[in-house]
Amino acid sequence: MSMPALKYARTFPRAGRLVKVMILSLLLWVCVLGLPYFLFMMFFGGSGDLQKLWAVAALVALILGVLLRVVIYMLSTKIRCPLCQGAAFQTASCRMNQNARKAPLLSYSTSMVLDMFIYRRFVCKYCGTPFRLRK
Ligand SMILES: [Zn+2]
Repeated sequence: MSMPALKYARTFPRAGRLVKVMILSLLLWVCVLGLPYFLFMMFFGGSGDLQKLWAVAALVALILGVLLRVVIYMLSTKIRCPLCQGAAFQTASCRMNQNARKAPLLSYSTSMVLDMFIYRRFVCKYCGTPFRLRK
């Protein structure tokens, strides 16, 4: 899992779309991780108004999570690797490039979003080309 050197990375055309999907994906994780916590707190975290508050939080996390998933899907279908035309965020059953990065327990797309967030660059999972978000 070593990141290719930045000087070899290409700039991704219209990287703003990637940043949008990245931010929405991070929000989605907050919802996905928050939902079980809110549900747990709803049942065991108190009674009365506090319980209602946790119930509302769980409902908001659920609805927001579904909405985010739909929006991410709609945005990401248009984002393709400029070299291999692979749909960067879609899941595919084909073999991934040997340079594709995958964190343990996470999918290729999720690992890609993490790379974008942490390093501001990522590797195309289909052709293995390193890209950067900034010029
Ligand atoms: Zn590619």
